Formats: sequence, structure tokens, C-alpha cells
Amino acid sequence: MTLQPTNNPVPLSWTATPDLLKSKIILVTGAGDGIGATAAKTFARHGATVILLGRTQEKLEHIYDEIMSDDGPEPFIYPMDLLSSDYEDYQKLADAIESDIGQLDGVLLNAAVLGQKTAISNIKTQAWMDCMQINLHSNFLTTKALLPLLELSNAGRLLFTSSSVGRIGKAYWGAYAVSKFGVEGLMQVLADETENVSNIRVNSINPGATRTSMRAAAYPGENPTKLKTPEQLMTLYLYLMSEDSQSIHGQMIDY
Ligand code: NDP
Repeated sequence: MTLQPTNNPVPLSWTATPDLLKSKIILVTGAGDGIGATAAKTFARHGATVILLGRTQEKLEHIYDEIMSDDGPEPFIYPMDLLSSDYEDYQKLADAIESDIGQLDGVLLNAAVLGQKTAISNIKTQAWMDCMQINLHSNFLTTKALLPLLELSNAGRLLFTSSSVGRIGKAYWGAYAVSKFGVEGLMQVLADETENVSNIRVNSINPGATRTSMRAAAYPGENPTKLKTPEQLMTLYLYLMSEDSQSIHGQMIDY
């Protein structure tokens, strides 16, 4: 297990074949927008049946329509607000996947909010709690509920989403930064627990500055056209979700 950030581990000669994720069932959280929406569509384009989880049903329906019009495998829509959900809701999610699909091969833990970007002394207590709930505790709750199903896959993949401020603390990034430190910790503990005793591979990705609404909210003065698009991240996401990344485990990966 490597505990230092690793640069993009995708071999130079590697390409994602059209059926790379054929017959795989992959859950994507925050699938209605930004990187999660692009990841869901990309996984489907490479053969996966995706479970679209997010808080805004219309956005999930829009991604569903895009996948269907692209002739992808019919996705599942699972509206869920990670702020108000408790463990029973996560268990219901696991039960629904087990009874309706009976299989789970990958989870992309992607949903997050920026929270209040201000000094620690200024952060409203509730804003701190909410950010930790969505960005960190939901990752624990999802993982705890879904691990038993993921263990049944011959190549389970658990991908957490981090940030550069989850590796080195930075002024005014508040609960967002602290939640991402927690995500890295969760990833490392789980990776250590599953090493050599499981087919699951656990890693985290720091996508870096990417053209999404979260980035625009964090840097309102920035010219978004200078940023990479979510599509440009997708070779890395596909690789880490595929069986080809068998040797990658417990790594904090920088795009
Ligand atoms: P976006 O804000 O574009 O998308 C975030 C997604 O998370 C949305 O679909 C949103 O749903 C969903 N979400 C937020 N809150 C909840 C909730 N309570 N319940 C369910 N779903 C929720 O963000 P990005 O695509 O930019 O970010 C994706 C990931 O990448 C995040 O983990 C982020 O921290 C990380 N990241 C992004 C960077 C960037 O530059 N963009 C840089 C470093 C890390 P809805 O659309 O309904 O609001």
C-alpha cells in the first residue's frame, strides 16, 4: 500500500475498450452533475449498468435519458439526499440493489458539497456538520452498507473522491478540507483491512481543478475555459473502475 499521492497510474499503452465494463454494475453518487454525471455516462458507454444516485431527481432523469439515447444499458435511478439519510436508508439502498439487481462491482463515492468557504472561526456550526455529513459520513455509511455486496464481485472497486486540500490543509477551506482528510483516512483504513483478503480494490482520486459548478463556486473569478473538463479525467476513472487496475490498491491518486 502506498500512502503518498501517486501520479496517474494508467499505463501509457492502455486504452479503454468499448466493452471494458460490460456486465458490471456500478453505483455513482452525485451522478446528476459535474464529474459524477460524466463518469456515469462514461461507465455506461463502456458497458456498465449504472445506478444513478443523487439528490435532484430531474438531473438523474436527464442523465438516464442521455445514457438511453446513447444506446447504453438501461440505468437505475436512486434519488437520495445524503444530508438527511440515516443508516436505515443506506441499508435500504443495499437491499434494493441486492433484490433488484443481485450484483455490485463498483462504487464511485463522488457526491460532495463545498460548504462554507471561510475561516474556521466564522463557520456556522450547522454548516460544518452538514458538510461533514455529505462529504465524509455518507461515504462511511455507503461503504458499510455496500461492502457485503461488493465482496461478492470478483473485482470490486471502491473509489473515493478527494481533493488537494484533503492532503494539505489550506486557509478558508473549512469543513470541505477536513472532510476530504477524513475521506483519505477512510480509504486507507479500508484498503489496509481488505489487503490480501479481498478482491476489492480501494483507492482515492484527487481530480484536480475541473470545470464544474463546484469549481466555479469556489473560484468565481476564474475563466472556466482554462480548466480541464470532466471528460478529460475519464481514462483514469475507467482504468480504476476496471479489472485492469488489479494491482492498484490503497493509493491516493492525483490526476
Ligand atoms: P458538482 O457540484 O458539480 O457535483 C456534485 C454532485 O454531488 C452533484 O450531482 C450534487 O447533486 C451531488 N450532491 C451534493 N450534495 C448532495 C446530497 N446531499 N445528496 C446527494 N447528492 C448530493 O461537483 P464536482 O463534480 O466538481 O465534484 C465531484 C467530486 O470531485 C466532489 O467530491 C468534489 O469534492 C471533487 N473535486 C472536484 C474538483 C473540481 O475542481 N471540480 C477538484 C477536487 C475535488 P445536485 O446536482 O443535485 O446538487
